[in-house]
Amino acid sequence: MIDLRSDTVTKPTEGMRAAMAAGEVGDDVYAEDPTVRELEERVAELFGFEAALFTVTGSLANLLAVRALVGVGEEILCESSAHIARAELGAHGAITGLTMRTWTHPLGYAALEAVERLIAPDMGPFFVATKAVSVENTHNFAGGRVQPAAALDGLRLLADRSKVSVHLDGARIWNAHIATGHGLSELAAVADTMGVCLSKGLGAPVGSLMLGSPEQVAEARVWRKRLGGGWRQAGILAAAGLYAVEHHIERLADDHAHAKLIAEVAGVDPATVETNIVVISTDDAAGVVARCREQGVLVGAVGARVVRAVTHLDVSTEDADRAASAIAKAL
Ligand SMILES: *Cc1c(COP(=O)(O)O)cnc(C)c1O
Repeated sequence: MIDLRSDTVTKPTEGMRAAMAAGEVGDDVYAEDPTVRELEERVAELFGFEAALFTVTGSLANLLAVRALVGVGEEILCESSAHIARAELGAHGAITGLTMRTWTHPLGYAALEAVERLIAPDMGPFFVATKAVSVENTHNFAGGRVQPAAALDGLRLLADRSKVSVHLDGARIWNAHIATGHGLSELAAVADTMGVCLSKGLGAPVGSLMLGSPEQVAEARVWRKRLGGGWRQAGILAAAGLYAVEHHIERLADDHAHAKLIAEVAGVDPATVETNIVVISTDDAAGVVARCREQGVLVGAVGARVVRAVTHLDVSTEDADRAASAIAKAL
């Protein structure tokens, strides 16, 4: 089976497993795991943040980061198909007690005019106070689209002017970095807090990080434990993360080339494929998924009329070729 359902399905490489086996460990609830600390320092530095916290998932990183910016009965604004709105099982409402209002953009962009219309930090006693705007880069459900630099610059200015914060869901920020050539800290400059995943394109088995100020991260550490997310000798996982950051960023270019290849054969405009996600429109997503499966290719339906194929570390050029023909045939 060639599994294109998500880039989360990768298995650790031999080199990564060796790094995990050799990783020094300690009790991370006591902040005494040297490998976790090294990972947190390394990733914070990569993005120009002062502090970071290693978490089990990107959802938890987002939850802790957004919670640092928005309180009970306050709101965050985001795009309507954002991961925080659509794919975190309502955690931000259920746990933080915040509300969300959304704008819609077909490519998931931070659409400044729409954000400007929604933003309401202090509209008097009837209105929920906007505390933050969240932006996703790359945007998952829009098909791995990269936020235009001008939109991010404009968002930062608007946020400063309105005195609200910006959260960046950077689960796949690594892909944006490779697709644009813009530096990681340059891409992060829009954000007050941020989440990044190691377990997507970078190929680590588990792990994400929440980034913020030392105060925000100290509080997030308390909340992580409160939610049951404190872990002990997590250095074994952090070692995989460090290995991924060291060895698997540049190779994302291969995933992007493979996604383009699939798009070309499957009849999707390759110009719409900027990173490692191919979004295929069809009248019958479930049927396409089933017909691909019969040919040994797993793709995912992300709506009744949308199929998604995601390339990653465990998909070779040969696999991408074979998958592309299978998808074309299924369509
Ligand atoms: C995958 C993903 C996350 C986090 O997902 P987890 O499965 O919780 O690690 C967050 N945001 C985006 C955009 C994602 O694609």
